[in-house]
Amino acid sequence: MTGSPDTTGRDALAYAASRLVRHSAEFGPPPSLAGAGPEARLVLMAGEAVILRADPHLTGTALLTPDEAERAGERAVEIFLGRVEERPVFAGAVTEEAASLFPAPGYRALDLRALVGEGAVAREEQGLIATAKSLLAWHARHRFCGNCGSPTVVAAGGFRRECGGCGLHHFPRTDPVAIMLVRRGDACLLGRGPHFKPGMYSCLAGFIEPGETVEDAVRRETREETGVAVGAVAYHASQPWPFPASLMIGCVAEGLTETVRTDPDELEDARWFSRAEVARMIAGAHPEGLTVPPPTAIAHLLLHDWVEGVIAAAPRPQA
Ligand SMILES: [Zn+2]
Repeated sequence: MTGSPDTTGRDALAYAASRLVRHSAEFGPPPSLAGAGPEARLVLMAGEAVILRADPHLTGTALLTPDEAERAGERAVEIFLGRVEERPVFAGAVTEEAASLFPAPGYRALDLRALVGEGAVAREEQGLIATAKSLLAWHARHRFCGNCGSPTVVAAGGFRRECGGCGLHHFPRTDPVAIMLVRRGDACLLGRGPHFKPGMYSCLAGFIEPGETVEDAVRRETREETGVAVGAVAYHASQPWPFPASLMIGCVAEGLTETVRTDPDELEDARWFSRAEVARMIAGAHPEGLTVPPPTAIAHLLLHDWVEGVIAAAPRPQA
Protein backbone atom coordinates (compact mmCIF):
# COMPACT_ATOMS: atom_id res chain seq x y z
CA MET A 1 0.00 0.00 0.00
CA THR A 2 1.32 3.42 -0.93
CA GLY A 3 0.71 6.79 0.68
CA SER A 4 1.24 7.95 4.23
CA PRO A 5 0.10 5.22 6.62
CA ASP A 6 -1.10 7.78 9.19
CA THR A 7 -3.66 9.46 6.97
CA THR A 8 -7.03 8.14 5.85
CA GLY A 9 -10.16 9.44 4.18
CA ARG A 10 -10.05 12.80 2.45
CA ASP A 11 -6.72 13.68 4.07
CA ALA A 12 -5.06 10.87 2.12
CA LEU A 13 -6.19 11.89 -1.38
CA ALA A 14 -3.28 12.68 -3.69
CA TYR A 15 -3.09 16.08 -5.46
CA ALA A 16 -6.16 17.36 -3.58
CA ALA A 17 -4.47 19.68 -1.07
CA SER A 18 -2.85 22.95 -2.12
CA ARG A 19 -1.81 26.18 -0.42
CA LEU A 20 -1.59 27.93 -3.77
CA VAL A 21 -3.54 31.18 -4.12
CA ARG A 22 -4.02 30.94 -7.87
CA HIS A 23 -3.21 33.77 -10.19
CA SER A 24 -6.15 35.19 -12.08
CA ALA A 25 -6.37 37.83 -14.77
CA GLU A 26 -8.35 39.91 -12.24
CA PHE A 27 -5.22 40.21 -10.09
CA GLY A 28 -3.56 42.43 -12.70
CA PRO A 29 -0.45 41.76 -14.75
CA PRO A 30 1.67 38.85 -13.48
CA PRO A 31 5.25 39.35 -12.27
CA SER A 32 8.18 37.82 -14.15
CA LEU A 33 10.55 35.38 -12.47
CA ALA A 34 13.47 37.65 -13.37
CA GLY A 35 11.82 40.62 -11.63
CA ALA A 36 10.34 38.78 -8.64
CA GLY A 37 13.50 38.68 -6.51
CA PRO A 38 15.05 35.93 -4.38
CA GLU A 39 11.76 35.15 -2.59
CA ALA A 40 10.30 33.71 -5.81
CA ARG A 41 10.08 29.95 -6.32
CA LEU A 42 9.89 27.81 -9.46
CA VAL A 43 8.41 24.35 -10.03
CA LEU A 44 10.49 22.78 -12.77
CA MET A 45 9.14 19.94 -14.92
CA ALA A 46 11.74 17.98 -16.92
CA GLY A 47 9.55 15.97 -19.26
CA GLU A 48 7.12 14.04 -17.04
CA ALA A 49 9.31 14.42 -13.92
CA VAL A 50 9.37 17.22 -11.37
CA ILE A 51 12.74 18.29 -9.94
CA LEU A 52 12.85 18.03 -6.14
CA ARG A 53 15.39 19.41 -3.71
CA ALA A 54 16.01 16.34 -1.57
CA ASP A 55 17.36 16.39 1.96
CA PRO A 56 17.73 13.07 3.83
CA HIS A 57 16.52 14.75 7.04
CA LEU A 58 13.64 16.75 5.62
CA THR A 59 10.66 16.26 3.33
CA GLY A 60 11.63 17.20 -0.22
CA THR A 61 10.28 20.24 -2.02
CA ALA A 62 9.64 21.19 -5.64
CA LEU A 63 9.88 24.91 -4.82
CA LEU A 64 13.30 25.75 -6.27
CA THR A 65 15.04 29.11 -5.73
CA PRO A 66 15.73 31.41 -8.69
CA ASP A 67 19.44 30.48 -8.49
CA GLU A 68 18.58 26.78 -8.70
CA ALA A 69 16.17 27.43 -11.55
CA GLU A 70 18.94 29.14 -13.55
CA ARG A 71 20.84 25.86 -13.69
CA ALA A 72 18.32 24.32 -16.07
CA GLY A 73 18.89 27.07 -18.65
CA GLU A 74 16.12 28.35 -20.88
CA ARG A 75 12.59 27.13 -20.24
CA ALA A 76 10.35 26.12 -23.15
CA VAL A 77 7.52 27.87 -21.34
CA GLU A 78 7.31 29.72 -18.04
CA ILE A 79 4.08 30.58 -16.26
CA PHE A 80 3.03 32.33 -13.05
CA LEU A 81 0.93 30.01 -10.87
CA GLY A 82 0.17 32.44 -8.04
CA ARG A 83 1.38 32.78 -4.48
CA VAL A 84 2.17 30.47 -1.58
CA GLU A 85 2.32 32.41 1.69
CA GLU A 86 2.94 35.61 -0.31
CA ARG A 87 5.86 34.10 -2.26
CA PRO A 88 5.36 34.33 -6.03
CA VAL A 89 5.48 30.81 -7.51
CA PHE A 90 6.25 30.07 -11.16
CA ALA A 91 6.37 26.86 -13.19
CA GLY A 92 8.65 26.05 -16.09
CA ALA A 93 9.18 23.22 -18.55
CA VAL A 94 12.58 21.95 -19.65
CA THR A 95 13.66 18.86 -21.56
CA GLU A 96 13.76 15.46 -19.90
CA GLU A 97 17.57 15.49 -20.31
CA ALA A 98 17.85 18.65 -18.17
CA ALA A 99 17.09 16.52 -15.10
CA SER A 100 20.76 15.44 -15.20
CA LEU A 101 21.70 19.02 -14.22
CA PHE A 102 20.17 18.30 -10.80
CA PRO A 103 22.19 15.32 -9.53
CA ALA A 104 21.69 13.17 -6.44
CA PRO A 105 22.03 13.31 -3.50
CA GLY A 106 20.86 16.94 -3.38
CA TYR A 107 18.15 16.55 -6.02
CA ARG A 108 15.77 13.98 -7.44
CA ALA A 109 13.57 13.83 -10.54
CA LEU A 110 10.30 11.96 -9.92
CA ASP A 111 7.16 11.50 -11.99
CA LEU A 112 3.96 12.45 -10.17
CA ARG A 113 2.90 8.88 -9.38
CA ALA A 114 6.25 8.12 -7.71
CA LEU A 115 6.14 11.48 -5.94
CA VAL A 116 2.87 10.48 -4.23
CA GLY A 117 3.80 6.81 -3.74
CA GLU A 118 6.97 7.78 -1.90
CA GLY A 119 5.46 10.69 0.00
CA ALA A 120 8.41 12.70 -1.38
CA VAL A 121 6.88 16.15 -0.72
CA ALA A 122 4.41 17.54 1.81
CA ARG A 123 0.84 16.73 0.85
CA GLU A 124 -0.01 20.45 0.56
CA GLU A 125 2.59 20.70 -2.21
CA GLN A 126 1.08 17.87 -4.30
CA GLY A 127 -1.79 20.07 -5.48
CA LEU A 128 0.57 22.83 -6.54
CA ILE A 129 2.73 20.39 -8.49
CA ALA A 130 -0.35 18.88 -10.15
CA THR A 131 -1.46 22.38 -11.20
CA ALA A 132 1.99 23.06 -12.68
CA LYS A 133 2.06 19.75 -14.57
CA SER A 134 -1.46 20.07 -16.00
CA LEU A 135 -0.96 23.70 -17.09
CA LEU A 136 2.47 23.08 -18.63
CA ALA A 137 1.14 20.05 -20.52
CA TRP A 138 -1.69 22.20 -21.91
CA HIS A 139 0.77 24.89 -23.06
CA ALA A 140 2.98 22.31 -24.77
CA ARG A 141 0.00 21.08 -26.84
CA HIS A 142 -1.65 24.42 -27.66
CA ARG A 143 1.09 26.39 -29.37
CA PHE A 144 -1.13 26.88 -32.41
CA CYS A 145 -4.68 28.15 -32.67
CA GLY A 146 -7.32 25.46 -33.24
CA ASN A 147 -9.41 28.04 -35.09
CA CYS A 148 -6.99 29.53 -37.66
CA GLY A 149 -3.69 27.65 -37.20
CA SER A 150 -1.61 30.74 -36.27
CA PRO A 151 0.88 30.62 -33.38
CA THR A 152 -0.55 31.45 -29.93
CA VAL A 153 1.25 33.26 -27.10
CA VAL A 154 1.11 32.96 -23.30
CA ALA A 155 -1.16 35.51 -21.60
CA ALA A 156 -2.52 36.13 -18.07
CA GLY A 157 0.57 34.56 -16.53
CA GLY A 158 -0.20 31.28 -18.32
CA PHE A 159 -3.90 30.92 -17.48
CA ARG A 160 -4.71 31.82 -21.10
CA ARG A 161 -3.18 31.71 -24.61
CA GLU A 162 -4.02 34.26 -27.26
CA CYS A 163 -3.96 33.81 -31.01
CA GLY A 164 -1.93 36.38 -33.01
CA GLY A 165 -3.95 35.63 -36.15
CA CYS A 166 -7.67 35.68 -35.29
CA GLY A 167 -7.39 37.01 -31.72
CA LEU A 168 -9.21 34.06 -30.15
CA HIS A 169 -8.52 33.41 -26.45
CA HIS A 170 -7.81 29.81 -25.43
CA PHE A 171 -8.19 28.65 -21.82
CA PRO A 172 -6.58 25.66 -20.07
CA ARG A 173 -8.84 22.63 -20.06
CA THR A 174 -9.84 20.24 -17.35
CA ASP A 175 -11.26 16.88 -18.44
CA PRO A 176 -14.05 15.66 -16.12
CA VAL A 177 -14.18 11.95 -15.29
CA ALA A 178 -17.06 10.33 -13.40
CA ILE A 179 -16.00 7.63 -10.94
CA MET A 180 -18.74 5.82 -9.13
CA LEU A 181 -19.51 3.51 -6.28
CA VAL A 182 -22.54 1.63 -7.64
CA ARG A 183 -24.33 -0.09 -4.77
CA ARG A 184 -27.36 -2.29 -4.36
CA GLY A 185 -28.41 -3.33 -0.88
CA ASP A 186 -25.29 -4.46 0.96
CA ALA A 187 -23.14 -4.92 -2.16
CA CYS A 188 -21.18 -2.71 -4.51
CA LEU A 189 -20.13 -3.17 -8.14
CA LEU A 190 -16.38 -3.17 -8.85
CA GLY A 191 -14.41 -3.97 -11.98
CA ARG A 192 -10.85 -4.58 -13.07
CA GLY A 193 -9.25 -3.23 -16.21
CA PRO A 194 -6.77 -5.30 -18.22
CA HIS A 195 -3.87 -3.10 -17.01
CA PHE A 196 -4.65 -3.35 -13.27
CA LYS A 197 -2.14 -5.10 -11.06
CA PRO A 198 -3.19 -8.70 -10.33
CA GLY A 199 -6.10 -9.03 -7.90
CA MET A 200 -7.02 -5.34 -7.78
CA TYR A 201 -10.63 -4.22 -8.26
CA SER A 202 -11.80 -0.61 -8.38
CA CYS A 203 -14.82 1.62 -8.93
CA LEU A 204 -16.06 2.02 -12.49
CA ALA A 205 -15.07 5.29 -14.18
CA GLY A 206 -15.23 7.08 -17.50
CA PHE A 207 -14.89 10.45 -19.20
CA ILE A 208 -17.92 12.72 -19.19
CA GLU A 209 -18.94 13.58 -22.76
CA PRO A 210 -19.88 17.01 -24.13
CA GLY A 211 -23.48 17.93 -23.34
CA GLU A 212 -23.79 15.20 -20.70
CA THR A 213 -24.63 15.62 -17.00
CA VAL A 214 -22.45 13.92 -14.39
CA GLU A 215 -25.45 11.78 -13.44
CA ASP A 216 -26.04 10.61 -17.02
CA ALA A 217 -22.32 9.84 -17.47
CA VAL A 218 -22.46 7.61 -14.38
CA ARG A 219 -25.51 5.78 -15.79
CA ARG A 220 -24.07 5.44 -19.31
CA GLU A 221 -20.61 4.24 -18.24
CA THR A 222 -22.05 1.70 -15.79
CA ARG A 223 -24.42 0.32 -18.42
CA GLU A 224 -21.73 0.24 -21.14
CA GLU A 225 -19.15 -1.50 -18.97
CA THR A 226 -21.37 -3.91 -17.01
CA GLY A 227 -24.96 -3.80 -18.31
CA VAL A 228 -26.17 -2.73 -14.84
CA ALA A 229 -28.91 -0.05 -14.81
CA VAL A 230 -28.41 2.86 -12.41
CA GLY A 231 -31.04 5.12 -10.81
CA ALA A 232 -30.24 7.92 -8.36
CA VAL A 233 -26.71 9.43 -8.42
CA ALA A 234 -25.22 11.67 -5.70
CA TYR A 235 -21.95 13.59 -5.59
CA HIS A 236 -19.47 12.58 -2.88
CA ALA A 237 -15.96 14.04 -3.44
CA SER A 238 -13.52 15.07 -6.17
CA GLN A 239 -9.82 14.73 -6.92
CA PRO A 240 -7.55 16.42 -9.48
CA TRP A 241 -5.78 13.75 -11.56
CA PRO A 242 -2.89 15.38 -13.48
CA PHE A 243 -2.48 12.76 -16.26
CA PRO A 244 -2.60 15.15 -17.97
CA ALA A 245 -5.51 17.28 -16.65
CA SER A 246 -8.47 15.27 -15.36
CA LEU A 247 -10.84 15.95 -12.51
CA MET A 248 -12.22 12.79 -10.92
CA ILE A 249 -15.81 13.40 -9.77
CA GLY A 250 -16.65 10.76 -7.18
CA CYS A 251 -20.31 9.70 -7.01
CA VAL A 252 -22.50 7.18 -5.21
CA ALA A 253 -25.05 5.52 -7.48
CA GLU A 254 -27.99 3.20 -6.86
CA GLY A 255 -27.90 0.01 -8.92
CA LEU A 256 -31.36 -0.97 -10.23
CA THR A 257 -30.41 -4.35 -11.69
CA GLU A 258 -27.98 -7.10 -10.69
CA THR A 259 -26.97 -9.08 -13.76
CA VAL A 260 -23.42 -8.17 -14.85
CA ARG A 261 -22.42 -8.46 -18.51
CA THR A 262 -18.83 -7.26 -18.78
CA ASP A 263 -17.70 -5.46 -21.93
CA PRO A 264 -14.44 -7.33 -22.72
CA ASP A 265 -13.06 -4.28 -24.55
CA GLU A 266 -13.27 -2.23 -21.36
CA LEU A 267 -13.01 -4.62 -18.42
CA GLU A 268 -11.41 -7.96 -17.66
CA ASP A 269 -14.00 -8.64 -14.97
CA ALA A 270 -16.73 -6.91 -12.95
CA ARG A 271 -18.87 -8.23 -10.13
CA TRP A 272 -20.70 -7.43 -6.92
CA PHE A 273 -18.77 -7.46 -3.64
CA SER A 274 -20.31 -7.53 -0.15
CA ARG A 275 -19.45 -4.82 2.35
CA ALA A 276 -17.58 -7.38 4.49
CA GLU A 277 -15.52 -8.50 1.50
CA VAL A 278 -14.57 -4.91 0.59
CA ALA A 279 -13.58 -4.30 4.22
CA ARG A 280 -11.17 -7.24 3.96
CA MET A 281 -9.81 -5.95 0.62
CA ILE A 282 -9.15 -2.53 2.18
CA ALA A 283 -7.44 -4.18 5.16
CA GLY A 284 -5.25 -6.31 2.87
CA ALA A 285 -6.80 -9.43 4.43
CA HIS A 286 -8.89 -10.88 1.59
CA PRO A 287 -8.56 -14.71 1.47
CA GLU A 288 -7.97 -14.66 -2.31
CA GLY A 289 -5.57 -11.71 -2.07
CA LEU A 290 -7.95 -9.28 -3.77
CA THR A 291 -7.19 -5.60 -3.18
CA VAL A 292 -8.47 -2.09 -3.91
CA PRO A 293 -6.52 1.05 -4.95
CA PRO A 294 -4.39 2.81 -2.29
CA PRO A 295 -5.78 5.55 0.03
CA THR A 296 -4.28 8.22 -2.28
CA ALA A 297 -6.96 7.36 -4.92
CA ILE A 298 -10.56 8.57 -4.80
CA ALA A 299 -11.80 5.03 -5.50
CA HIS A 300 -10.37 4.07 -2.11
CA LEU A 301 -12.16 6.99 -0.45
CA LEU A 302 -15.51 5.96 -1.96
CA LEU A 303 -15.03 2.37 -0.77
CA HIS A 304 -13.71 3.41 2.64
CA ASP A 305 -16.62 5.79 3.23
CA TRP A 306 -19.14 3.15 2.13
CA VAL A 307 -17.66 0.47 4.40
CA GLU A 308 -17.43 2.91 7.34
CA GLY A 309 -21.00 4.16 6.90
CA VAL A 310 -19.91 7.73 6.02
CA ILE A 311 -22.01 7.30 2.89
CA ALA A 312 -25.61 7.07 4.07
CA ALA A 313 -27.31 3.68 3.87
CA ALA A 314 -28.92 2.84 0.55
CA PRO A 315 -32.66 2.58 0.23
CA ARG A 316 -33.78 -1.06 0.19
CA PRO A 317 -33.69 -2.29 -3.41
CA GLN A 318 -37.02 -3.38 -4.86
CA ALA A 319 -37.28 -7.16 -5.16
ZN1 LIG B 1 -6.48 31.96 -34.38
